[in-house]
Amino acid sequence: MQKRKKLRVGCLALAAACLISMAGAPATALADEASDLANQLQQAEQKKQEAEKELEQAKENSKKEQAVSTALKNDEQALRGQISTIVGQISQKQSEIAAKQNEVAAKQAEIDQKQVEIDQKQAEIDQRWANFKERIAAMQVMQAGGTIAMLGKATDISSFLTYSDNLQEISKYDRQVMDEMAAEKAALQQLQDELQLQKTELETAQAALESQKLNMESQKNQLDATKAALSLQIQAQDEKVSAAAADEQAAKEEYEAAYAIWKKAQEEFDRLANSNPGAAVVGDGTVMWPLPGYTRLSSYFGEDRELWPGYWSNGHGGVDVPAPAGTPIHVFKSGTVYNSYYSASYGNVVMVDHGNGLVSIYAHMTARMASVGSVVNVGDVIGTVGSTGQSTGNHLHFEIRQNGSRVNPLNYISPS
Ligand SMILES: [Zn+2]
Repeated sequence: MQKRKKLRVGCLALAAACLISMAGAPATALADEASDLANQLQQAEQKKQEAEKELEQAKENSKKEQAVSTALKNDEQALRGQISTIVGQISQKQSEIAAKQNEVAAKQAEIDQKQVEIDQKQAEIDQRWANFKERIAAMQVMQAGGTIAMLGKATDISSFLTYSDNLQEISKYDRQVMDEMAAEKAALQQLQDELQLQKTELETAQAALESQKLNMESQKNQLDATKAALSLQIQAQDEKVSAAAADEQAAKEEYEAAYAIWKKAQEEFDRLANSNPGAAVVGDGTVMWPLPGYTRLSSYFGEDRELWPGYWSNGHGGVDVPAPAGTPIHVFKSGTVYNSYYSASYGNVVMVDHGNGLVSIYAHMTARMASVGSVVNVGDVIGTVGSTGQSTGNHLHFEIRQNGSRVNPLNYISPS
């Protein structure tokens, strides 16, 4: 059934062509109606196909825009991941910096502690130095004229000398202690210098961490900027997706409208094809000539004919009746349509089974207006004259078979 419809649609272009060739030719009202319907159906079919194509394109476009949107959103997702990673790295770097800062602070505390020790040492040295100076001054007083006083204090020379020696001994000891303290201070100073050096190294390391952190922050800023740009792109793309979806919806509605028009035209066409009224039946009422008024035959049954120069067919299988394109063809006797198709040789052909092994065949038609299985009454229009298949001009090839053998149609019906 579906195949038959497709074939019918295939012959519609020819139906339109027959409209033109019919101009000025005698045509019945039925032929006009059939041609009009064929023409309407052809136009509706064309519009439906165009709408279908538009819809396909709209769907394709919608899919394409959606794919772009998905790709952009995947990119954004990946960027989010990168940013999240770098934020983690920055946080890690910040922890390292904080740890380094603690180390620097601890080192500074050690340095400060060392400074306290140095200051203490210096105070001791200063104290010792002050004492020493006092004693030296006393010695000088004693040596420069103070000798008398000293002597006064000494009980004898021996004790005076001893006193003097003692002073000298003491000053010698002072000097030794002071030298030692100076050495200790120098050692402390050296330790402090070392600590200072370590602190400087820590600060250098901290500065390197700070620099790495800055670099990461710069990377993060770039990623943020890329993400912001991408967000704008996604926003714009989402608008495209919406627009494409709207286009698709509009195309779908247009297609549905075109489909409804086509369906109506198809139904009209089918209605005419399946239930066209029988023409005035000529003859005994059970049979009629399929092309009333066209009685001239261009080829008889059994004739040998030169189809093309040098190509002869022997034994023509039916009779050929010339008539203008679009002329309605009437079924010659009541029966049932058992075949309706397009063949390379017959063109559009309809075959009707009349029972008792009798079959009539109508070939080279422009349009077929018969559904397989439908019951037709004598005189019903089953198609229109054309020149489809192996044909050199508009004519009906009318053929009759009896028990599968081709027989002379004129034995069954006379042209009238
Ligand atoms: Zn023929």
